[in-house]
Amino acid sequence: MQKKEMICIVCPLGCQLEVAEDSRAEKGYKVDGNRCKRGTEYGIKEMSDPTRVVTSTVRLKGAYLRRLPVRSDGPVPKKLVFECMKRIAEAEVQAPVRMGDVIIENILDTGINIIASKSMQPLQPLTAISP
Ligand code: SF4
Repeated sequence: MQKKEMICIVCPLGCQLEVAEDSRAEKGYKVDGNRCKRGTEYGIKEMSDPTRVVTSTVRLKGAYLRRLPVRSDGPVPKKLVFECMKRIAEAEVQAPVRMGDVIIENILDTGINIIASKSMQPLQPLTAISP
Protein backbone atom coordinates (compact mmCIF):
# COMPACT_ATOMS: atom_id res chain seq x y z
CA MET A 1 0.00 0.00 0.00
CA GLN A 2 1.41 3.33 -1.06
CA LYS A 3 1.46 5.89 1.75
CA LYS A 4 3.02 9.32 1.98
CA GLU A 5 3.30 12.19 4.44
CA MET A 6 3.25 15.74 3.15
CA ILE A 7 2.51 19.31 4.16
CA CYS A 8 -0.56 20.86 2.59
CA ILE A 9 0.55 24.10 0.90
CA VAL A 10 -2.91 25.33 -0.10
CA CYS A 11 -3.12 27.77 2.82
CA PRO A 12 -0.72 29.08 5.51
CA LEU A 13 -1.94 26.62 8.17
CA GLY A 14 0.20 23.91 6.53
CA CYS A 15 -1.59 20.83 7.82
CA GLN A 16 0.50 17.64 8.05
CA LEU A 17 -1.24 15.19 5.73
CA GLU A 18 -1.00 11.44 5.52
CA VAL A 19 -2.23 10.10 2.20
CA ALA A 20 -2.66 6.39 1.67
CA GLU A 21 -4.03 4.22 -1.12
CA ASP A 22 -7.47 2.97 -0.23
CA SER A 23 -9.51 1.07 -2.79
CA ARG A 24 -12.70 1.81 -0.79
CA ALA A 25 -12.20 5.59 -1.02
CA GLU A 26 -13.96 7.47 -3.82
CA LYS A 27 -10.79 8.52 -5.63
CA GLY A 28 -8.60 5.66 -4.45
CA TYR A 29 -6.84 7.56 -1.65
CA LYS A 30 -7.59 8.27 2.00
CA VAL A 31 -6.35 11.59 3.41
CA ASP A 32 -5.83 12.22 7.14
CA GLY A 33 -4.62 15.29 9.00
CA ASN A 34 -6.42 17.86 6.85
CA ARG A 35 -8.62 20.49 8.43
CA CYS A 36 -10.66 21.13 5.29
CA LYS A 37 -11.59 19.44 2.03
CA ARG A 38 -9.04 21.44 0.05
CA GLY A 39 -6.42 19.39 1.86
CA THR A 40 -8.10 16.21 0.65
CA GLU A 41 -7.98 17.44 -2.94
CA TYR A 42 -4.36 18.54 -2.58
CA GLY A 43 -3.26 15.22 -1.06
CA ILE A 44 -4.98 13.15 -3.74
CA LYS A 45 -3.55 15.31 -6.55
CA GLU A 46 -0.05 15.08 -5.07
CA MET A 47 -0.29 11.30 -5.10
CA SER A 48 -2.03 10.78 -8.43
CA ASP A 49 -0.94 13.66 -10.66
CA PRO A 50 1.52 16.06 -8.99
CA THR A 51 2.05 19.38 -10.78
CA ARG A 52 4.04 22.55 -10.19
CA VAL A 53 4.04 26.11 -11.44
CA VAL A 54 7.53 26.65 -12.86
CA THR A 55 9.37 29.88 -12.07
CA SER A 56 12.77 30.81 -13.42
CA THR A 57 14.63 33.42 -15.46
CA VAL A 58 15.77 33.62 -19.09
CA ARG A 59 18.66 35.46 -20.70
CA LEU A 60 17.68 38.99 -21.67
CA LYS A 61 19.37 41.20 -24.26
CA GLY A 62 19.10 44.94 -24.70
CA ALA A 63 17.95 45.86 -21.18
CA TYR A 64 19.54 47.05 -17.93
CA LEU A 65 19.09 43.61 -16.38
CA ARG A 66 20.52 40.46 -17.91
CA ARG A 67 17.81 38.07 -16.75
CA LEU A 68 14.05 38.21 -17.19
CA PRO A 69 11.86 36.51 -14.56
CA VAL A 70 9.42 34.05 -16.12
CA ARG A 71 6.80 31.55 -14.94
CA SER A 72 4.47 28.99 -16.39
CA ASP A 73 0.91 30.21 -16.94
CA GLY A 74 -0.40 27.01 -15.37
CA PRO A 75 0.76 23.91 -13.53
CA VAL A 76 3.16 21.57 -15.33
CA PRO A 77 3.36 17.83 -14.53
CA LYS A 78 6.06 17.45 -11.88
CA LYS A 79 7.90 14.83 -13.95
CA LEU A 80 8.41 17.43 -16.73
CA VAL A 81 9.68 20.27 -14.52
CA PHE A 82 13.38 19.40 -14.99
CA GLU A 83 13.01 19.26 -18.79
CA CYS A 84 11.10 22.57 -18.70
CA MET A 85 13.95 24.17 -16.79
CA LYS A 86 16.40 22.97 -19.46
CA ARG A 87 14.29 24.54 -22.22
CA ILE A 88 14.01 27.77 -20.25
CA ALA A 89 17.78 27.82 -19.74
CA GLU A 90 18.23 27.71 -23.54
CA ALA A 91 15.86 30.61 -24.22
CA GLU A 92 16.90 34.21 -24.84
CA VAL A 93 14.70 37.27 -25.33
CA GLN A 94 15.25 40.79 -26.56
CA ALA A 95 13.89 43.84 -24.72
CA PRO A 96 11.33 45.37 -24.73
CA VAL A 97 9.24 42.71 -23.03
CA ARG A 98 5.83 43.22 -21.45
CA MET A 99 4.63 41.31 -18.42
CA GLY A 100 2.55 38.37 -19.70
CA ASP A 101 4.32 38.10 -23.07
CA VAL A 102 4.71 34.47 -24.14
CA ILE A 103 8.40 33.55 -24.03
CA ILE A 104 8.02 29.81 -24.82
CA GLU A 105 4.73 28.67 -26.30
CA ASN A 106 3.25 25.26 -25.42
CA ILE A 107 6.35 24.05 -23.61
CA LEU A 108 6.92 20.30 -24.09
CA ASP A 109 3.45 20.03 -25.68
CA THR A 110 1.82 20.55 -22.28
CA GLY A 111 -0.45 23.34 -23.51
CA ILE A 112 1.26 25.58 -20.95
CA ASN A 113 3.19 28.71 -21.93
CA ILE A 114 6.20 30.23 -20.24
CA ILE A 115 5.40 33.92 -19.81
CA ALA A 116 7.26 37.03 -18.64
CA SER A 117 6.65 37.89 -14.97
CA LYS A 118 7.92 41.44 -15.42
CA SER A 119 8.07 44.14 -18.08
CA MET A 120 11.52 45.22 -19.25
CA GLN A 121 12.23 48.39 -21.18
CA PRO A 122 15.05 48.55 -23.72
CA LEU A 123 18.26 50.39 -22.90
CA GLN A 124 18.01 54.08 -23.70
CA PRO A 125 21.00 55.89 -25.20
CA LEU A 126 22.73 58.15 -22.70
CA THR A 127 22.08 61.85 -23.23
CA ALA A 128 24.69 64.46 -22.49
CA ILE A 129 24.00 66.69 -19.50
CA SER A 130 24.32 70.32 -20.48
CA PRO A 131 26.16 72.59 -18.03
S1 SF4 B 1 -5.95 21.15 4.81
FE1 SF4 B 1 -7.13 23.03 4.61
S2 SF4 B 1 -6.66 24.15 6.48
FE2 SF4 B 1 -5.07 22.59 6.26
S3 SF4 B 1 -3.39 23.61 5.13
FE3 SF4 B 1 -4.69 22.57 3.61
S4 SF4 B 1 -6.10 24.16 2.96
FE4 SF4 B 1 -5.22 24.86 4.86
